[in-house]
Amino acid sequence: MSLVSSTALLQTARANKYAIGAFNVHTLEMLQAVVEAAEEAQSPLIIQSTVGTVKHLGADYIAAAATVAANRSSVPIALHLDHCSDFSVIMSCIRAGYTSLMIDASHSPFEDNVAITRKVVEAANAIGINVEAELGKVGGVEDDIVVSERDALLADPDECAEFVERTGVHTLAPAIGTAHGIYKGEPNIDFDRIATIASKVSVPLVLHGGSGIPDEQVKRAVSLGMAKMNVATELRIIFSDAIKQVFAENPDENDPRKYMVPAKQALRSAVLAKMELCGCAGRARDFR
Ligand SMILES: [Zn+2]
Repeated sequence: MSLVSSTALLQTARANKYAIGAFNVHTLEMLQAVVEAAEEAQSPLIIQSTVGTVKHLGADYIAAAATVAANRSSVPIALHLDHCSDFSVIMSCIRAGYTSLMIDASHSPFEDNVAITRKVVEAANAIGINVEAELGKVGGVEDDIVVSERDALLADPDECAEFVERTGVHTLAPAIGTAHGIYKGEPNIDFDRIATIASKVSVPLVLHGGSGIPDEQVKRAVSLGMAKMNVATELRIIFSDAIKQVFAENPDENDPRKYMVPAKQALRSAVLAKMELCGCAGRARDFR
């Protein structure tokens, strides 16, 4: 099938209390690995790229590869632009064929975040693609700061409701204590806050910073309303470690296939495990 908007995928996920894994890819092999995992798991899939990867590979190359994958695939696949604050990059990705995007104006004051997000939602609605936005500051939260400071960085549930109402955004990433990268200790997730936000906001919620959250905490967050889980750093590490291992064993290797195939396989296994964890494995059936 063609690439689809992530909106219906994520609404169905939230209604059925599972989350769809959204996996950041940086190379063709990484993209193929996540698609193969989705096929094997019979899972809906969101392929993501960062703005950096769009600049590195080109939105058109990424969209072309994702389109081929979707056309060949029996599971629904969306192509999403992760954390973007640049309107021109958003427009170039829409033009290239992305079916989902994140406008991140979370570092602007609330009123500006509303205005900027509203503008992107209007553009996206014209062609039926998904918009995700962020409230609070994901990744700005460190373990050792005092509670009042931490509170100020997390998303306010009433503001979440007002934000969704005023912007018409399709999916919301509220800061609830997760961070990007790999956690030094355990993440400090505010589960009560997720529950309160979910009670006030009916759109699917997005869990950022999914690398290295203990499995039980992921399941709890998903049960409370998180319908999309972003995983980036962990995948990069697994992919790179597999390549490093090939060179450790054979420093003279010079055939890219010889190190890309094991890297693909390692990534595919890791993505399969995340799909089981999120509960999206087997859920492609929801879209037939
Ligand atoms: Zn993020």
